[in-house]
Amino acid sequence: MDAASDSPNAESPASRLTPMMAQYFEIKAANPDCLLFYRMGDFYELFFDDAEVASRALGIVLTKRGKHEGEDIRMCGVPVERADDYLNRLIALGHRVAVCEQLEDPAEAKKRGAKSVVRREVVRLVTPGTITEERLLEPGRARLMVAVQKVRAREGGQVYGLAALDLSTGAFTLSEADEAGLPAEIARLEPSEIVASQAVYDEREFSRIIGAMRAPATALARDGGDGVAAERRVCEFYGVETLDGFGAFTRAEIAAAALALAYVKRTQFEARPALSAPTRRARGTSLEIDPATRANLELTRTLSGAREGSLLATIDLTVTPAGARQLAERLASPLTDPEAINRRLDSLDFLVEAAPMREALRRALAHTPDFLRALARLSLDRGGPRDLAAIRDGLAAAAALAGILEAAQDLPPELLAAYARLRADCGALERDLQSTLADDLPLIKRDGGFVRASASPALDEARALRDESRRVIAELQSSYAEQAGVRQLKIKHNNFLGYYIETPQAAGETLVKPPLNSTFIHRQTMAGAMRFTTNALVDLDARIASAADRALALELEAFDRLRHACLAEGERLRGFGAALAEIDVAAALAELAVKRNWTRPLVDASLSFRIESGRHPVVEAALKAAGEPFVANDCDLSGEAGEGGRIAIVTGPNMAGKSTYLRQNALIALIAQMGSHVPAARAHIGIVDRLFSRVGAADDLARGRSTFMVEMVETAAILNQASARSLVILDEIGRGTATFDGLSIAMACVEHLNAVNRSRALFATHFHELTGLAETLPRLVNLTVRVSEFKGTLAFLHEVVPGAADRSYGIQVAKLAGLPASVVKRARQALASLEASRSSATLDSLPLFSYEPREPPAPDEVRAALAALDPDAMSPREALEAIYALKRLMEAKGVTAAAAHSIGDWPPRAAPPK
Ligand code: ADP
Ligand code: MG
Repeated sequence: MDAASDSPNAESPASRLTPMMAQYFEIKAANPDCLLFYRMGDFYELFFDDAEVASRALGIVLTKRGKHEGEDIRMCGVPVERADDYLNRLIALGHRVAVCEQLEDPAEAKKRGAKSVVRREVVRLVTPGTITEERLLEPGRARLMVAVQKVRAREGGQVYGLAALDLSTGAFTLSEADEAGLPAEIARLEPSEIVASQAVYDEREFSRIIGAMRAPATALARDGGDGVAAERRVCEFYGVETLDGFGAFTRAEIAAAALALAYVKRTQFEARPALSAPTRRARGTSLEIDPATRANLELTRTLSGAREGSLLATIDLTVTPAGARQLAERLASPLTDPEAINRRLDSLDFLVEAAPMREALRRALAHTPDFLRALARLSLDRGGPRDLAAIRDGLAAAAALAGILEAAQDLPPELLAAYARLRADCGALERDLQSTLADDLPLIKRDGGFVRASASPALDEARALRDESRRVIAELQSSYAEQAGVRQLKIKHNNFLGYYIETPQAAGETLVKPPLNSTFIHRQTMAGAMRFTTNALVDLDARIASAADRALALELEAFDRLRHACLAEGERLRGFGAALAEIDVAAALAELAVKRNWTRPLVDASLSFRIESGRHPVVEAALKAAGEPFVANDCDLSGEAGEGGRIAIVTGPNMAGKSTYLRQNALIALIAQMGSHVPAARAHIGIVDRLFSRVGAADDLARGRSTFMVEMVETAAILNQASARSLVILDEIGRGTATFDGLSIAMACVEHLNAVNRSRALFATHFHELTGLAETLPRLVNLTVRVSEFKGTLAFLHEVVPGAADRSYGIQVAKLAGLPASVVKRARQALASLEASRSSATLDSLPLFSYEPREPPAPDEVRAALAALDPDAMSPREALEAIYALKRLMEAKGVTAAAAHSIGDWPPRAAPPK
């Protein structure tokens, strides 16, 4: 270990703390919620429970060392140079780590006395939302820490401010939300970590929200303050007198910003990140998508949590990490302003047309390093030589892009603005980096070796001296060997003596005598060998050592100079970064449009929703990979202002393509509003303000929350919040309960949507009865997915056409699924006899519902009677009699025709709640 007293002393009495353990306990007590990485020489050591947790999480050996209060001190350690990997795994598991460093050399501590301990301090808390190490970050994903603070609203109630900070790039955005909008706003940001003021943290609703998120949450008891105090904190951080220069922020936003900065201080200690000035996203400027809808539409992850197979993964053709992050952000926050959307679409159109330029831009962008993340590391003084190189290469890429865009005539406004930014001059910095940095760069700066030869004469000289030492030493050795007449004389090196001369013992005896002893100075006698030095060697030794030190010092000096030069250009570099990302996204979406045959949507402020030959991008890609075609479908939900949109009831058998159709239309609206071309032959979308998508409980097993209650809570949220501007997708709502309940609820929901919300809506259902509603509700349309049946075998055509499904084809689907033939045959018989007693498939008989028995009628007796029949053994006459008997039995049980139809769905697809 590093110093005599600097170890948990095995010999000390159990009751007495060694000075080192006392230090450990003090630091641990200050960071109770973190695993403490306690630096000891080349290792970070963990003790006690921390050791237990870490050894289990990392699969490293748990050892024991000495005792504390009669108990073994459990410990484990990770080597410093591999700490990143271990940190990565611990953070991924949701742990927080306090990194405690040695702040002085053990030798210095020793000077204070044998019992003194090396000075140590926690220099950083590593948390999921504040990491900056390249190896710990996903290239194409933002790493957001989101701070949530609340203030009292002027009009009463609470307003929440949200500050989203990406420490890995310096991006800092503020927004606010009311109570109802908070879950959607947090979900939009997809945080890696949430920080809340204690007041927010303690709210029941808030814990419900974070309970549903993947991100860990922390309460900051002493938060950033409110009002003037918060504003002062933010001003102080940026070194400005007022925030007016950054824009007009609300009180809630400033309070959240202050909270975020308080957390930065809390986790980064003295290191001060270079953050961009805060920007704000005003309320209502993005399409609101609540967490359930995001999950259900599989925007950035599939329902099972994988990135692969999500919409984002399917449409991401960007070539830089910053571009990928920007695309993810656009997808997470589609716009609601038709003008802004059309500006983006103009850039796309331009790049779709200008194919050679698009390709040139994409070529120039490819391999551009993630220099904004490099800049962020440099600002925290965690950067290495390769981070400087990333900035060098980023500057080169920016210049290359500017050169390509320069040739273009009539750049659309967005690309013109990007071009203007790229023309900012950073030539001096670029030249400095070019001429100073070597071609091959080490990962860390500590050992030097990153400054190019001939970059600095002083460094060249120091290096020459250091590197020539071998040759000089070799020369000296042969001249001494000759002078002493000792062939075996060698010059060696160790840390204690530095350079020294060694001869065999016998030969050495002549060196301690005149005349040789005037040159050779005796240092040590070993077994069989003697060691000497000379004045010349001592001199050379000092010069070599100082040359190495000097070379390293000069290199570190150069590093620091370049680092500061980069930080001084931070504003422009961030401008380049933003422009590069924007161009990457525009070029990638243009490429996507060309490759997959997407078209420009017409986006305006109307209530239109007309899609011709729309496709589901993810399903289409999956089918294409399997060599199968996707059947494109139309959709028209357009409505008039003041009246509201249309509601389409979509019926059809299982597996026909209902869910796909619903989602594809929602996705097309969303993709249009992010400012992209869409997977359709034509699309006219009147701005959607909120998007709602719900799936009936039976279909929602993947999320592990298949209760009917959840389904109803979510449905309630839609019916309470959706407006005439909203788009609502309801997929098989009401199947999580008994058939009658479910049908009644589904029907009432459709009526409410029609009369109150007036949203454009798609409603897929297996309750055929709902199709009857179209007769009385004029804004309702019926759609069905066509199937063909040939000799009792079903083929799915996936074609959506006007009309209602004539039946549910449950048995045919069951047959496709491989149900035993005998069972299928039996089911057909049962269905036939049940259908014989059915008078209508619609809700003509609706009023009957008002006296629906409280208990759903149990069809068990009927089924039992049915099951007892053996049609193969019956004459036609017996069969007819049996049917009459069954019907009498049913009527005796009070089963109506409408209810009987639900028995026609037998076996019922919706499992009754247990
Ligand atoms: P439903 O909701 O009616 O049960 P789904 O929408 O889940 O049906 O679709 C079932 C399967 O049918 C999908 O996984 C997909 O493979 C295929 N499918 C759906 N729509 C189409 C389409 N338009 N073209 C081709 N295949 C489709
Ligand atoms: Mg479905």
